[in-house]
Parts: sequence; C-alpha cells; structure tokens
Amino acid sequence: MAEKLAQMSIHEKLTRLARNLWWSWDPEVTDVFRLIDPELWEKVNHNPVLLLKEYSPDRLEERAREAVLHTRIHWSYRRFQEYLTAQTTWGSTHAGILGQGPVAYFSAEFGIHESLPIYSGGLGVLAGDHLKSASDLGLPLVGIGLFYHEGYFTQAIDAGGWQRETYPRLEAVELPLVPVTNADGPIVVTVDTRTGPIHARVLHLNVGRVHLYLLDTDIPLNTDADRALTARLYGGDQRTRIRQELLLGVGGVKALKALGILPNVIHMNEGHSAFAPLEVIRQRMQEDGFPFDKALRDTASRCAFTTHTPVPAGHDRFDQGLIEEHLGPLGDALGLDTHGLMGLGRVDPQNGGESFCMTVLALKLCRIANGVSNLHGVVSRDMWKSLWPWRSVEEIPIGHITNGVHVPTWLAGQMRVLYNRVLPEDWYQRTGEPEVWSGFESITPGELWEVHSTLKSRLINYARKHAVDQAKLRGEGAEVVADMEGLFDPQALTIGFARRFAPYKRADLILKDLDFLAKLITDTDRPLQFIFAGKAHPADDRGKQILQHIFQLTRKEPFRGRVLILENYTIEMGRVLVQGVDVWLNNPRRPLEASGTSGQKVVLNGGLNCSILDGWWAEAYDGKNGFAIGSGRTHWNQDIQDARDGEDLYRVLTKEVIPMFYDRDRDDLPQEWIARMKRAIRTLGWRFNADRMVMDYANNSYVPAAGGLSCSIVSMP
Ligand SMILES: *Cc1c(COP(=O)(O)O)cnc(C)c1O
Repeated sequence: MAEKLAQMSIHEKLTRLARNLWWSWDPEVTDVFRLIDPELWEKVNHNPVLLLKEYSPDRLEERAREAVLHTRIHWSYRRFQEYLTAQTTWGSTHAGILGQGPVAYFSAEFGIHESLPIYSGGLGVLAGDHLKSASDLGLPLVGIGLFYHEGYFTQAIDAGGWQRETYPRLEAVELPLVPVTNADGPIVVTVDTRTGPIHARVLHLNVGRVHLYLLDTDIPLNTDADRALTARLYGGDQRTRIRQELLLGVGGVKALKALGILPNVIHMNEGHSAFAPLEVIRQRMQEDGFPFDKALRDTASRCAFTTHTPVPAGHDRFDQGLIEEHLGPLGDALGLDTHGLMGLGRVDPQNGGESFCMTVLALKLCRIANGVSNLHGVVSRDMWKSLWPWRSVEEIPIGHITNGVHVPTWLAGQMRVLYNRVLPEDWYQRTGEPEVWSGFESITPGELWEVHSTLKSRLINYARKHAVDQAKLRGEGAEVVADMEGLFDPQALTIGFARRFAPYKRADLILKDLDFLAKLITDTDRPLQFIFAGKAHPADDRGKQILQHIFQLTRKEPFRGRVLILENYTIEMGRVLVQGVDVWLNNPRRPLEASGTSGQKVVLNGGLNCSILDGWWAEAYDGKNGFAIGSGRTHWNQDIQDARDGEDLYRVLTKEVIPMFYDRDRDDLPQEWIARMKRAIRTLGWRFNADRMVMDYANNSYVPAAGGLSCSIVSMP
C-alpha cells in the first residue's frame, strides 16, 4: 500500500482529491489547488475538476516542482486516506446501530460548495453542512437530492435596479459527479404517473465519507419536457413542483433500492420529500406481505421529519387533479383511491375542500418531527395542533433541534490559526463540546482585533473588485466604475446583510427613515457603511422591489460609496462576508425566521450579531454576546410591528452598536466590543455548530428511529 501510494503520480492524487468535496473544507488542500494556478482557480469558480482538465500529468508535475507543492500534495493525500479509513469515530461509538443501515437524508437542495450551485439559501446550505458534519463524525448517512443542471439562477441587476436571472448550464462531467452503474449499465429509476413514466439517472458525489445521490431526468428515455424537469431548483409551476417532489421522494427511495442501500432511517429535510415514506410502505406491502396499516406504522416509526417553515404559504399544497395524476399508480398499489390519498395530506381527511399539504403528509408518516429552533418548535406545535385535536399544545409531538453551521467550512483561515493556538489540539474533532471553546479566554484583545481587521480589509477589497466588475457588466460609465474602486472606508463600522430577499426578512427595514440613515452614514467621526447581497425568487416581485429600492439608494448621495449591493450571492460570497463584517444585521418579521444560520457563521469569525430575537438568536442572545433588536414581542398588526422594529433598530445602532464600536482605548482598541466578540465565540461556537446539531439528530432522532422507537419530543440538551 505504502509503495503504491509513493508510486502514484501527483496528477493521480490530485484527481482523486478533486473527486471528493472533502477538499472544500480542508484548507490545506484548497490551498494546494489554488497555488497550482491562482488565476485559473478563480476562473473555474474554484472547481478543481475543471482546473485539472487544463493540466496534463507532465505539465502538472512541472508546475508542482515550480511551486514546491510535492510534499504538500503527498501529505494532503495521506490525510485524505486517513480521513476516509478512520475506524473509531463518534458515529461508530454513539450510533453503532446505523452500521446496519444508514440514515437516508432527503433534501430538495444541497449547498455544499459554490462550484455546485444546486441551492437557493439557508435550507440548502444547512443540508450541505449536515452532510459534512455527518462525514466528520463518521455517522452512517447518505444524501438524496436532485441534480439541477441549470441550478437556481445567476443574478444580475440591471441599470434600473431590477433583478435579471440567467441559467448557465452545469455539466455533470465537469463536476465530481459520476453516473451510477450496475452490471447492466447505468442505473435508471422510473416513477409512474397517470400520464406516463418519468425516468432518471442517478449521479453520485463524494462528500467526505458521505455519499450523495442526485437524480437527473435529462436522459434520452424521457420526453423533452421531462428532460427539463430537474433543470431548475424551485422553477416552473405547481405541476413541475409535484413532479420534482415525486421524483425526489419516490424516485429517491427507488434509487436506494437499486443501489442496494437499505436505510434504517428516512430523514425528510423539509416537506418536499414527503412522498418517500409512501414508496417505502409500498415496498413493505409487496415484499413482506404487510397490510397497509401495518406497513404504515412500521415505516413511520423509522421516519424523521424536519419542518423549516413557519409561514403558512411556504408549505407546498397540491390540488386533487395533480395528486391523482402523480400519486394514482402508487395509490393503486397501496389500495388507496383518490379520496384515501388526499386524506393523507389533509388535516381533516373528510374535508373535501382541503388541498393536499406536503407538511401534513410528512407529519402523518413520521413518528419523530422537529422544528429548527426552540421558538420555531413552539410556533410549529401551535401551527399543526389541529392534527392532534385531543392533545394540548405542549403535547403536540413536534420538538426542536436548533440548526448549526459546519465550522471548517465557515471559519476563516486566519481565525483558524488563532483557534489552533488557543484551543486543544483536537478541537477540530470536538467542536460540539463546550469545554473545548473555553481556551478562547486566553486570546488577547489586540490579536483578535488584528485578525478581524485583516479579514475586514479582505472583504472591502473583495467588495470593490466585485462592484467594479458588476458596474462594467451593467455598462456604467468610467466615472461610476472609478467610484467603485475607492468604495468604502476600511476604518468605518461595516454592517453586512445577506440572505434570500424574501419579503419577511425585511432587507429594507433600515431604510424606514432615510434622513436619519443619511445622518448615521455620514457622521464624520463615527461613520457607518452597509453591504447587501441576496437573490429574490424569480417569481417574487415584492422581493425584487425591495432589492430595487436598495439598489436605487446605492446610486444617490449621500449613500453612494457607503451602501452597496453585491450581485449574485453565493456560498463563496457568503464566506467572505461572514468572515469580514463588524456587524451582521438580521431583522426578520418575528417569528418567521425558523432558525437562520448566517449569523452563526459570523460568530465563529468574530463578528457581532445585531438581530431581532427570532430563530436561533432568541435562544443565543444573553445581553453581552451581540445586540438585540426589539424585545421578542410581536404585534398582530404587521405595519405596527414593522414600525416598532424599525425604530428599535435605529435605537440599538445609535445607543449601543455605534458608541461601543468607536469607544477606543490608547491603542485604538474597542475593548468592550472585543470582549463581546470573545464572549460570542466562547458561548455560542459550541452550541450553534453542525457537529452538535448532527449529534442531537443522532441521539434524539436517528438512533431511536433505527430502533423503531417513537420518541416524539426532541429538544436540544
Ligand atoms: C448561510 C447561508 C444562507 C442562510 O442565511 P440566513 O440568514 O440564515 O437566511 C443563505 N445563503 C447562503 C449562500 C448562505 O451561505
């Protein structure tokens, strides 16, 4: 083995590294890829498969010698092998039962890396982080999703401030995706509908130790319309939507079967995949001869469901025609007529006026359900209490596991150096343990501030470069372009706001009083500057108007040069932003932010959250680890709530955030501010990370479900 490794060319080693997205959260390997050809690395959107295409083995050999990379490549590859083959892991110790059959984790989107843009926002990034932590922990888990060859979309903003969407085509062969084959050739799964079958091939992706399978309908067996079925994430009409969800759920279970994978647990990440248990039930009836009821009970005890949406309109609903067309054949096999099928997706099965709701279906077909923060658990229990009319609201069997973020993905390199110095040597593998983070106390304010300032400069340079590029693309004059080069003041308090431009997130709350905002921004001693980013869903005109409103402001005095929108928010841009801002602003309309995770990424890197007490922040804020907008109350009248929150946002900025940031000692250090940064990292880092989250899922959801137990109320320990 050792000999073989030594013989393997560096081209071969790098090719293997490029075919497992593990590299994307290992800074050493990421560095090696970049150093091979820094310019090309940017051009190929950090995709090493494309990078290596440009390098023959000989040319790569030469380049590696030039850049003195041999030792680093060999070392990277060795660590990669060690990672893949480690015998004792958290998962093997704590979730041994999953060794008999993994968790199958279903999600409509996965945000793993910018080179694979099959995510729209937090839900997808959460799913990506979940896979990475499951891999790091050695938890047996496979992911199931769809391959969108046009992704979500690429965003540009035109001269009028209106969002324009384009859909560049992704090629599986240019990504670390491989069609799965068996002895008979490529595996194809087929899902029947009343109007004909839908076929899909199965693409495989390595995410560390985790396998992710993505279904893709773009194959010649399908009609042209169905070839395009999986083209776009959240694209098309209701019929497209149900067909995609049918493929994800039913097709996903069939794919597992074809792959010979027998999952012990089905985890539905949001309701999109809620058809999955129906196919499992069908298989149990057919293979074990179970009657429907018994197959349902048996299946439900092994299904877990995570709901993410406190907005009623955010839950997929389908009318009877679409259900009959798409679930009809499966209903025949289950012995259910249309009425019986509809009943599974209705709160009241007898209510003929009720449409079919995917969340209702998921809740009826699982025995373990959770929301994604403490507050969201409360909201969800209230929202779905009519499904259990005989129970009091506290007894509604929907618990919560608060979301977390994958530390190695979101931690800046320079911060990692600090972590390495003050935390235990193996902190990397123990981020879910509170003691591990206590070493942060020994960091001196000066060094933390220095690292933060470096990261902030990097953000400002990134913003300038991006702003210049987007101004040129928009066809702006030389004067505007030149303006962009000198954008922002590296010393000024820099506030970031980036997330999907869904209206409830209220990106424009800060614009409530423009005169007041202008005063804050232009204060000569204590200036403020803002960076916005985010995509509106292509069909969301309200979201686009909010974007336009902010865009128009960025061109007006005195906001010009001090307020910027960065176009096309991606995971890459997210990293630069969360690693470099002083303050991360989050002002959703409470309680509509189920959890939110971007603020957790900011915490790891020393930024401070200034947020409505909603989602994760409602349980994280302790008075000294960031800033709170509002008092955690809501008003039935939305306008009043918006007005109050807007006022309180200005109050927090002027009374707390700005004075503290600019209160400097003799060394120009904001001591109280830095104390908050330290406190945030130390008190929040261990709780709001994805290792802790996945361990909670394992302990409270996966292991009980694998044992066929029903354990209904899940809470964070
Ligand atoms: C983390 C992340 C999100 C989620 O942001 P929230 O503020 O939690 O909604 C969305 N998009 C990208 C690219 C992210 O990295």
